[in-house]
Amino acid sequence: MKNRGISLRKANIIMLIVAVLLSGGLLVAMNITSSYYKEMDDYTNQFLKWRTSSYDLQRASDYLTDQMQSFTVTGDRSYLDNYFKEANVTKRRENALEALSQGNVRSAAYKDLSAAMEESVSLMEREYYAARLTVEAYGYDITEFPEEIQNVKLLSPDTGLSSEDLKELARLMVHGEEYRNRKAVISTHMENCLKDLEQEMDEKQTINSEKLGRQVAIEHILTVFIIIVFLLMVFLTYRLVIRPLKNSVDLIRDEEDLPIHGAYEIRFLAKTYNLMHHTNLQSKEKLTYEATHDKLTGLYNRRGYDFLMENIDLETSALLLIDIDKFKTINDTYGHDVGDRILVKVADIIFGNFRAQDYVCRIGGDEMAVIMVHSDPSLSSLLASKVKKINQYLAEKDETDNPTVSISVGVAFGETGITSEILFKRADTCLYEVKDGVKKEISFHKNEKKKSEKKKS
Ligand code: GH3
Ligand code: MG
Repeated sequence: MKNRGISLRKANIIMLIVAVLLSGGLLVAMNITSSYYKEMDDYTNQFLKWRTSSYDLQRASDYLTDQMQSFTVTGDRSYLDNYFKEANVTKRRENALEALSQGNVRSAAYKDLSAAMEESVSLMEREYYAARLTVEAYGYDITEFPEEIQNVKLLSPDTGLSSEDLKELARLMVHGEEYRNRKAVISTHMENCLKDLEQEMDEKQTINSEKLGRQVAIEHILTVFIIIVFLLMVFLTYRLVIRPLKNSVDLIRDEEDLPIHGAYEIRFLAKTYNLMHHTNLQSKEKLTYEATHDKLTGLYNRRGYDFLMENIDLETSALLLIDIDKFKTINDTYGHDVGDRILVKVADIIFGNFRAQDYVCRIGGDEMAVIMVHSDPSLSSLLASKVKKINQYLAEKDETDNPTVSISVGVAFGETGITSEILFKRADTCLYEVKDGVKKEISFHKNEKKKSEKKKS
């Protein structure tokens, strides 16, 4: 298939679509990543709240124990006030349970905390009894105490006890082994609750960090692709546009053809330029040819002759000036057209009888010139026989019935320091020697140097 090159427009659209898709993908991936981070952050905060709540329940339970123990030991009512304030107003245990029940916490943790709560609540019955005993022991007015204490009915064996025994019994109830065992049950439930919460947190974090790891890997891959696309765009722009354009500028400056490579559009420009460049060159060549050649005979014209004389090595060349004899009469007798045909015939014959490297010119009406490069007077006799041969040919009648003609020739050879004007003048003088009948057919200019050389010899 013919290589048409990549279309810049298409390449641009494709790159744009790929870049938009990749950037969009990266944005989505980043959004998902940040939502995972947020999820993890929310869950961590939630866990911390649950843990604080759990500790609150434990602390509230211990506080109640402390206050009740202090009351039974000291009989100071402020401890009992503190106790009921915590149990009925502050309610840290209930709040903690409430907080866990609202969150999406694992049921095991909630159950543990509920069990701790139940145990703590059931322990309060014992504490109320101890408080009632203490009130009795200190002889306080029972009506001044909360309902919970007033409603406690002392067991019959305890009603007859002395103040000291009552105090001792009260202390035992909230300090004794049974009480401590039940407190230990609360602590165990609390520990289990915390363990459950931590385990849940660990699991969530493991799952989340796996998801985050995957997301980060996707982001890395997308980023690498975006970098690749970016580099590809830079590379393609250089290969398809910048390099061909830079080369083209250099080549246009040197007036050379442009190579067909790069993007489709650049190739199109190069092809169009090459075509225009060629047309321009051809018309230039045509103009040059027309300016330097004679339309009728196809020989160099006067301008061509002048150009050649300026550019060849005159010192090693010979100039032949040729004129058709009595050409005017032919024109007058046979007409201009016949004259033209004879001019063409003479031109062809002269052209055909000289070497390819020689230049044959029509420098005037019936006047022609032959510039023979690499020539010297040793060629004189050869030239004389050439002219004789041409005249013999021209003297023969051809099938056209046109009149015959003859030519006269004047020859001058180049020498050191000679100018084109002098060479022409010498050849012209020789030509007129023939025209004037001094010489027949051809006349050669004798160079001075050669004459003196001859004299010497
Ligand atoms: P001579 O032997 O002295 O050269 O005589 P001549 O008649 O040839 O005289 P001359 O060379 O001065 O005349 C040149 C003639 O050539 C004059 C002109 O009518 C004719 N001539 C010039 N250009 C053309 C041309 O393009 N076509 C034709 N048919 N004749 C031309
Ligand atoms: Mg003439």
